[in-house]
Amino acid sequence: MNDRVNEILKSSMEAGWVLEPLAKELLGIYGLTTTKFAWAKTPGEAQAAAQKIGFPLVVKVVSHQVLHKSDVGGVVVGVKDSAQLDAVFFRLSELPGFEGVLLDEMAAGAEVILGSKQDPQFGPVVLIGIGGTSVEIYKDVSIRMAPLSAAEALQALHALKGRKLLEGYRGRTPVNMDHLTDLIARFSQMVFELADHIESIDLNPVLCGAEKAVIADARIMIKR
Ligand code: ADP
Ligand code: MG
Repeated sequence: MNDRVNEILKSSMEAGWVLEPLAKELLGIYGLTTTKFAWAKTPGEAQAAAQKIGFPLVVKVVSHQVLHKSDVGGVVVGVKDSAQLDAVFFRLSELPGFEGVLLDEMAAGAEVILGSKQDPQFGPVVLIGIGGTSVEIYKDVSIRMAPLSAAEALQALHALKGRKLLEGYRGRTPVNMDHLTDLIARFSQMVFELADHIESIDLNPVLCGAEKAVIADARIMIKR
């Protein structure tokens, strides 16, 4: 295992899960595409990072006490300038356990959910679903053993009822399936390699556009 991966997992052991900026860094090490992001601990750092990433931005709370960020108003989408960034930073800084904010590049596209868990029978498995509501309401999920190839990822996507949402349904641009299936294959490889250290992963959403698929949120639960 890469030293930095080891360091990130170790530093997350006590809390039991990996903060989003560290989770995205870890995914990047495994060749997975995430949104461009920065972790800023002061308003000054936030302003400097915003210049690099560019407005509009998504700003999110970073706190080990906040696992589900939007439940506590910890995600602000479409922050458009420096003044708004200052105001959002101040408001988020009042949330419990505040450790800074994550500035996130705004992404768009069809929402895919990728997950992993340890199955008692099959070991590390990957879960693939489309669109927030279709997964929750219709349990429209494909489950495959890790690792899987890009071709197997494509088959798993085709097995979903909601696949039309990726194929350019109702005049939308079709998503780049090569990029998405490559992302899923790399993800499954990571899940396989880290099976002894990670309990589960939730990448929700992965935003899939005509050019690429980017991971916009990541929750990694550590095995203790
Ligand atoms: P949580 O799941 O912890 O509540 P998320 O990071 O998933 O927080 O953010 C909540 C929602 O905000 C996402 O489901 C998505 O709709 C939107 N969002 C988050 N990050 C981005 C981004 N980089 N670009 C566009 N939309 C985003
Ligand atoms: Mg999320």
